[in-house]
Amino acid sequence: MTDCLFCRIVAGDIPSETVHETETTVAFKDINPAAPLHVLVVPRRHIDDAAAVAPEDGPVLADMLVAARAVAEAAGVAGPDRGYRLIFNVGPDAMNSVPHLHLHVLGGEPLKGHFAAA
Ligand code: 5GP
Ligand code: ZN
Repeated sequence: MTDCLFCRIVAGDIPSETVHETETTVAFKDINPAAPLHVLVVPRRHIDDAAAVAPEDGPVLADMLVAARAVAEAAGVAGPDRGYRLIFNVGPDAMNSVPHLHLHVLGGEPLKGHFAAA
């Protein structure tokens, strides 16, 4: 039993709309979407946040990026004329709210600005 929200989603204890799964990652729809496509890619193994990533975590980070591309392809936004945005929030100034590493995959419409979510 863990009190980490995303560990509990990975374990299936809390329901989520899963869109993609691999041996090392799970991708599910954000409960409060900021864009038509808003999916969170998380490692199955708990890592606190992007600042806690160590060199030996390299493979799972690559798995997360490959999963994000698969999510974008499935949503039809991966082609050369479309695109999507990948975000890691770290700490309170970036409004990181869930302390389990997650990669936001945002898209489905032209995103506003270069750095904002939508
Ligand atoms: P952060 O603010 O930490 O970068 O991103 C956390 C994200 O998790 C937010 O966009 C928020 O909407 C999403 N979120 C929080 N609780 C849940 C939940 O129980 N289920 C799902 N699917 N998303 C959640
Ligand atoms: Zn966790």
